[in-house]
Formats: sequence, C-alpha cells, structure tokens
Amino acid sequence: MNKLNSHKLGPDQNGRFGIFGGRFVAETLMPLILDLEKSYLEAKNDDSFQSELSYLNKYYTGRPSPLYFAERLTNHLKTAKIYFKRDELNHTGSHKINNCLGQILLAKKMGKTRIIAETGAGQHGVAVATVSARFGLPCVIYMGAKDIERQKPNVFRMKLLGAEVVPVNAGNSTLKDAMNEALRDWVANVNDTFYIIGTVAGPHPYPEMVRDFQSIIGKETKEQILDQEGRLPDHLIACIGGGSNAMGLFYPFLDDMSVKITGIEAGGMGLQGNKHCASLSAGRPGVLHGNRTYLLQDDDGQIIEGHSISAGLDYPGIGPEHAWLKESGRVEYVAITDNEAVDAFKVCTKTEGIIPALEPSHAIAHLINIAPNLPKNDVVIVNLCGRGDKDIFTIAEHLNMEI
Ligand SMILES: *Cc1c(COP(=O)(O)O)cnc(C)c1O
Repeated sequence: MNKLNSHKLGPDQNGRFGIFGGRFVAETLMPLILDLEKSYLEAKNDDSFQSELSYLNKYYTGRPSPLYFAERLTNHLKTAKIYFKRDELNHTGSHKINNCLGQILLAKKMGKTRIIAETGAGQHGVAVATVSARFGLPCVIYMGAKDIERQKPNVFRMKLLGAEVVPVNAGNSTLKDAMNEALRDWVANVNDTFYIIGTVAGPHPYPEMVRDFQSIIGKETKEQILDQEGRLPDHLIACIGGGSNAMGLFYPFLDDMSVKITGIEAGGMGLQGNKHCASLSAGRPGVLHGNRTYLLQDDDGQIIEGHSISAGLDYPGIGPEHAWLKESGRVEYVAITDNEAVDAFKVCTKTEGIIPALEPSHAIAHLINIAPNLPKNDVVIVNLCGRGDKDIFTIAEHLNMEI
C-alpha cells in the first residue's frame, strides 16, 4: 500500500485526524499533555515497558483471548462463517482492562502517585479501580450522581477495590458531567495525578494511545484468523460507545482493503428524536472532552443526553478517528435499536451458550440483519467485547420478567 493512501496515518503531530481530534484543553493542562505525549512515545519504543505490559496481558488478563468459530450461530443463520473474538473472557469481563493496564504502567513510568478517572456505567471505573489496586495507587472515580444510583453493583465493586467514588451533581449528573469534573481535578493536581481515560476520546494523545493499547485485539485476531482459516476475514463488526474496542479490532486491518469494516452505534428507540446514542449517524461535529468530533447536540450546540439500553454505549460523542474514518468512507457506521440488540442477545445466548453484554449484542444484531445477503464462504468476525452478567437486570426489566 502506498503510504499516502494508508488509512493508518492519523493523528498528525497536533493530534488531528483530518479536521477531527486535537487538544482543546485549559492552558494550565498543556504542559502536562505534552509531557504525557512525550512519555507515551518513549514507552512505545521501550522494551521493558512493552514486556511488562505483555506479561500482565498474558498472566493477569488472560490474553490472548480465543478467536472462536460460532458454529451453531452460523448454522442457525445459514450464513457466512461467524467467528467471535472473545474479549469477554478477560479479567473484569471486557476489553477495558487492555487500556487500563497500559495507562497505569505509563503513570508508574511518569512517577505519578494518584489515579483519577470518570465513569458512566461503571465498567471503566471498575477496570481503573482494579489496576489501581494491583499497583497500590490511590484512585478517585468521578461518577454522575444519577449514574451512581443506577449502577449500584459497579459502585460497590469500585469501593471494595479501594477506590473513592465521587458523586458529580453538576449538569445532568451523568457521564459528560463526570468527564468535566475529572478534567477539573487534573488541572488542579497536575503534578502527582494521572487521568486514565477509558475510550479513544479526550485530548491528544489519548485517542492514539488508547487505540494502540486496544490494538492487541486486532493484532491477535489477524494472527488467529490466518492460522485458523489461512486468510483474512471478509468482514469485521464491532459496537461503538466511544469507540475503543472497535478501533482496537479495526486498526490492524485498516489497510487490508478486501476487509469490509462496520462500526455499530446505539440506535436506542430509533434515530427520529433524541432517544439514541448514534453520534455519527445522527450527530454533528463539535468540541467535547478536549477534542473535535461528532456529537449529539441540539440547535444551540448543547450536548444531548442520549439513550441506549446498553449503559456502555451511552456516550454523547465518539472517538475522533472514527469521525475521520466515516468521512474517508473506509469504515461504515450503522445504528441498531434496543429491541434488535435484545433479540440478538437472546439468539447468541441460546445458540452458543455465551451470554454477551448488551454492547456487543448490537454488533451481533447487525450480523443477523446482513446474514441473508452474505455468501456462505465468507468469514465474518464479531468482537465480543464484554460479558452479559452485568446486564441481566436490564434484560429482565426489558422483557418484563422476574429474576
Ligand atoms: C465500555 C464498553 C463499551 C463501549 O466502549 P468502547 O470504547 O466503544 O469500546 C462496549 N462494550 C463493553 C462491554 C463496554 O464495557
């Protein structure tokens, strides 16, 4: 591939992916952001950093996660050969740990002694609290007061792991407000504090750094499919909240033009109205959380609270690299509704004996929708980025069932 035609060129030295990305932060944060970027670039080429990360990925998280041929689902749908990349088997139950381990090692390398993070549904908060316990660092998690009420089991997990969970009462008391509060804490405590961002968003270098830590998903997948099928897949599908599990799977395949790549946003109750979280399918570019990207916003540019049955997809923005990949046309973005996701959840559970999280159930739903049109000798890989234990109460409520 001609270097100029590569889809892997972003970001530039200003952290831009085309017109997206960048670093829109308070002036007081700039020196810290530049210091973080420098340390990250060093870590990228530092053998001892990389080997410590590999060690933890293998013995703490349980990587590599298997690439599993979903034979019963394939037969049920009478379609192309379906594989699941099983990141739901990771320690803590999702892909989030891949990124948190990378960032806490970087915090240690930079001599930071205090960890902060924001969380919405609590999955990222639990992963941050987990690695903070593992490395013996105090950690503060900002969480909207409304989310604390909605996500009690994860709040309790974080506390057991030793984290301090700080309720945020500003704005709508949800994720966006918690992100603002975490950025404010960082500005006030730049010297000793490391901010672990949980998805491919935030100011540069976060989108690039989180993508790189999550790219282990796609690197393993490529080796595994070449080993198991002797060729590249025809299709990759992953769900998108902020976009980190999707970027992780997609990135190593971006220049393999025979591979069709699709990202799945939360269509909630449909794209008419505001009851969805499909920033790319139904949002407009703007600035949030230190970067320019597609956002759910009203006519005055106010951020809209989205809706998804899946708390992990409930993010009003999307990583800037996805915004860029949408505009270049390399990746296609599709929205899936709550109902479609729940139907897919049921099909996966009953045919494969795997209870998926509601987030990847959106990816499976898209697969089910396109299944009738796929040639039987095609190979499709779906990223199973999380397990569904956390979602059983939501499912029960949606189906009007008692637990
Ligand atoms: C957090 C989460 C997501 C959404 O985050 P991305 O950055 O888009 O990957 C998706 N699936 C699961 C299981 C999650 O925990």
